[in-house]
Amino acid sequence: VPRTVLITGCSSGIGLAVAVRLAQDPQQRFHVIATMRDLRKKEKLEEAAGPALGKTLSIQRLDVCSDSSVAECMENIPGGRVDVLVNNAGVGHVGPVESISVEEMKRIFETNFFGVVRMIKAVLPDMKRRQSGHIVVISSVMGLQGIVFNDVYAASKFAVEGFCESLAVQLLQFNVVSMVEPGPVNTDFELKLMEEVSRSEFPGTDPATVRYFKDAIVNVIRARRPAFRTQTNSLYTPLVALKYADPSGDLSVRTYYRLLFNYGTLFHLSMAALRCLTCGCFRRRVTPL
Ligand code: NAD
Repeated sequence: VPRTVLITGCSSGIGLAVAVRLAQDPQQRFHVIATMRDLRKKEKLEEAAGPALGKTLSIQRLDVCSDSSVAECMENIPGGRVDVLVNNAGVGHVGPVESISVEEMKRIFETNFFGVVRMIKAVLPDMKRRQSGHIVVISSVMGLQGIVFNDVYAASKFAVEGFCESLAVQLLQFNVVSMVEPGPVNTDFELKLMEEVSRSEFPGTDPATVRYFKDAIVNVIRARRPAFRTQTNSLYTPLVALKYADPSGDLSVRTYYRLLFNYGTLFHLSMAALRCLTCGCFRRRVTPL
């Protein structure tokens, strides 16, 4: 029996790519419910899905910011049964804090944080009853490490990380929560944000990188025992590790400062963190979940 996979935010980008990838699984192991806020934007997904449309992939409306929209979508799912929930919908945001109103910040949190919470609340009771299910959350490396001018976006992803980290402990006996923390796929992600250019096609990214990025999420969904955290960009891992290597926080803040102004020093510090990893002393400080 194919597993029902509900994915949010499938009109573009990662959501669209993952939906199509799963729906086109040669062994037809998944039935994908690809959801989007605005069904007028479904054409690109329909085109990409090809013959899978109406067979292993169906499209439904779902706005993660609306209780009634989530309820309506769940009512249309036979038995309300979702085996895998992929929380992908999210909005980026950059800019100096002074220029951002609290109202605007709440809007980011409404999608990136409460959107995830709303979806998890919608599927959790049934997953607990069945004692099976899998919740995948597309977080960000910015859910583990703040980046300059991404203050609000990073905070919203940190909120998601804290929520899921706590939930994972409770859910270990029922089902699995997995975080995917994509590193920047495209080096001018922030530039694109500022220019309000569509992010869906990952312009300027080589196909190998795009493929690797999509594979990472599909592998988490397919895994029998998925890890709690999967970072798609291994180059980022030592940078994230810096904050745990130095409890005072100086090492990570200074490294990121130097990343902006002196690349050579960053490299030196990353290597230092790696050495620490190899000798084992770092491992003792970080207790993986
Ligand atoms: P994207 O903008 O192409 O995709 C985000 C999707 O979410 C869009 O289709 C958008 O319409 C949808 N969405 C926004 N608000 C919604 C709502 N209220 N209800 C339903 N859908 C809504 O960008 P993407 O890069 O594919 O982003 C997907 C996820 O990956 C996001 O959570 C993002 O934070 C995360 N991420 C992306 C990158 C990257 O480099 N692209 C890096 C780290 C994390």
